[in-house]
Amino acid sequence: MSFRPLNDRGVLARWKEFLPVTDKTPFISLNEGSTPLIHSPKLSTLLGRGCEVYIKYEGLNPTGSFKDRGMTVALSKAVEDGARAVICASTGNTSAAAAAYAARANITCAVLLPAGKIAFGKLAQAFIYGAKVVAIEGNFDDALRLVREIGETEPIAIVNSINPHRLQGQKTASFEIIEDLGDAPDFHLLPVGNAGNISAYWLGYTEFHQLKRATKLPKMVGFQAAGSAPIFHGHVVEKPETIASAIRIGNPASWEFANAALRDSGGAIDIVTDEEILRAQAWLASEEGIFVEPASAAGIAGIFKSVDPARQSERRMPLVPEGSRVVCTVTGHGLKDPDVAKEQCGAVIPARADKAEILRLLA
Ligand SMILES: *Cc1c(COP(=O)(O)O)cnc(C)c1O
Repeated sequence: MSFRPLNDRGVLARWKEFLPVTDKTPFISLNEGSTPLIHSPKLSTLLGRGCEVYIKYEGLNPTGSFKDRGMTVALSKAVEDGARAVICASTGNTSAAAAAYAARANITCAVLLPAGKIAFGKLAQAFIYGAKVVAIEGNFDDALRLVREIGETEPIAIVNSINPHRLQGQKTASFEIIEDLGDAPDFHLLPVGNAGNISAYWLGYTEFHQLKRATKLPKMVGFQAAGSAPIFHGHVVEKPETIASAIRIGNPASWEFANAALRDSGGAIDIVTDEEILRAQAWLASEEGIFVEPASAAGIAGIFKSVDPARQSERRMPLVPEGSRVVCTVTGHGLKDPDVAKEQCGAVIPARADKAEILRLLA
């Protein structure tokens, strides 16, 4: 067997002709992207009428969320531009990705977090990758405001999704889905926080549609948590609340871009409650073997809401026609937020080290 070099993997290597890179751009990569698109027989049956549901499992990226797709581009461009440090505000996954790619690039990473509101797995990542972590009194929106202010005066590259390279990298998930399905799906469902990802997917779909690599465009359907749903309500939410910390955002950075994607695709923004999110999270793990963090289950909760007869009057998601192909992005890995998962678990069953007793307990 011949040796196969591994530097041909990753978002930049696979999609460079569609990304803002030049001969001088270093590829800061951890072989992110190319995540699996998993058919869900049970969700397909749930929608019925010949519809097929596929799950884009972004939790399988190197740091466990889709943020790696954007971060490989943002860090590569920052290094190309001579940056010695990067900074971000984060609800957790952006900081994990920024810290990992900064480590890879040998530059400093500073992270501003809302104090006490970060899932433990994500905080552990920022530390172990060597970032400087500052917890501020305030919420995510306050942290992002401070990052913007620091970026105005200091020679530090901002790698939040207000950095346009992030969305460029994230749009590659659409390219992969089109390659896997042979065309764009009819619907694309995903959770919405800062609304960068829904904007990035739309960018990717429209780009491949213009290049005639896809014959159609999907309706984009975003789901916000009921307690932090600024786009749904049409106004800023001062104190966003939800167990789904990755989408606990009251004033989305990519709000206007997302509104354009919703309008132009004929899609919609809808809400799901924390209870529905947790139920969908547990269901996806126990029924399909896919463990995601709470925020990532918002789109799955949305599918359940869409088929619930009691919810038809309040739903905003358009009806899914017969034979539609539906893709649902699950954005981050379940191990990111072990505490929430733990609360959902049953208790262990204590037993003596005795075969008969164990068999009796398992019966
Ligand atoms: C960042 C993130 C989101 C929200 O994405 P936006 O681009 O902010 O809308 C959802 N889920 C997870 C796991 C995330 O890390």
